Amino acid sequence: MHIHIVVAARPNFMKAAPLWRALSKQSWADISLIHTGQHYDYAMSDVFFAELGLPTPHINLGIAGTTHGQQTGRVLEAYERVLLSERPDLVIVCGDVNATPAAALAAVKLGIRTAHLEAGLRSFDRSMPEEINRIVTDSICDILWTPSSDADKNLLNEGVAKDKIHKIGNIMIDTLTLLRPCIEKTSLPADLDIANKPYALVTLHRPSNVDSQTTLKELCDALLKCATQKNLVFPLHPRTRNRLEQFGLFSKILSCPSIKVTAPLPYCTFMRLLFGADAVVTDSGGVQEETSFLGIPCLTLRENTERPITITSGTNQLLNAALLPEVLASTRRPPVAPSIPLWDGCAAQRALKTIQSLL
Ligand code: UDP
Repeated sequence: MHIHIVVAARPNFMKAAPLWRALSKQSWADISLIHTGQHYDYAMSDVFFAELGLPTPHINLGIAGTTHGQQTGRVLEAYERVLLSERPDLVIVCGDVNATPAAALAAVKLGIRTAHLEAGLRSFDRSMPEEINRIVTDSICDILWTPSSDADKNLLNEGVAKDKIHKIGNIMIDTLTLLRPCIEKTSLPADLDIANKPYALVTLHRPSNVDSQTTLKELCDALLKCATQKNLVFPLHPRTRNRLEQFGLFSKILSCPSIKVTAPLPYCTFMRLLFGADAVVTDSGGVQEETSFLGIPCLTLRENTERPITITSGTNQLLNAALLPEVLASTRRPPVAPSIPLWDGCAAQRALKTIQSLL
């Protein structure tokens, strides 16, 4: 069976890797990794391939930057060309980036069976570009691999046929479980000077937080207040760095000695920092899940989340910038990490069973 796995951006790599590993052990599977090129530089893309056990992509469409419409349209056109010459039997798309619905649309229109990894998540906030991508992708794919029961419920409420939905669990947790020994052996970066000191890890990149000057200024002010309590380690997403510079906020953050600004980090270094953090301040989807799995308090600077299970069963809470310093000061790690059904490191094996049933 010829299978394409399509990836585009950082959060896709951690989801695709376990499936790649599981499929590459099957004699009947002939797999190609297709990179659309949305994230293209070393720190946001290349560094992850060797670390996560992914091969160099077989095809790179080289489609980066630009607007949502251009990105979606260009992937649709370029990937259709690839599909017409390769004619795979199955296309797997991941997550909720612009390439996800674009690649899915190209494939389903050619009658190629298409699976969505991480289906059914809903924030119910259509101002999020990712929410539109999720809804469109789920409405056209043949196989919907969901991480949790809330996702199944969302799909059923949208009228999706039950036999398309396969609850496989959280595949990012497969990556985390597999690489845990390597993460535990990784040292904290010496230049951060945080060994044996309490710190919180910060990641921000959602357009709703970083694209508005007023909102980003409020967030920076809140972080500066938090930095009077403890060190903050802040690996900067390229989008956030650009906005901080554009809005004249970068030097304020850089000049605070207890805010340790870094470039985006390799997976094991980032996770090592997460393992050792008192708390994580974020707007990332994946980080809400990783902290919940590990039992690390997660303070999410958003009005909603497409991952409600991280609130009901995990360690996540939603809040705004004004509340952040006070909440961070009173946050403590729970004595035991939560246990969320099917977040057990075996999601790829369950996805594999679905694929085997197609043979
Ligand atoms: N991550 C990483 N290095 C970093 C920041 C994040 O390896 O400097 C990993 C982390 O595992 C996270 C994943 O990248 O869960 C996806 O992150 P991102 O926040 O970019 O995407 P989202 O999950 O919000 O779509």
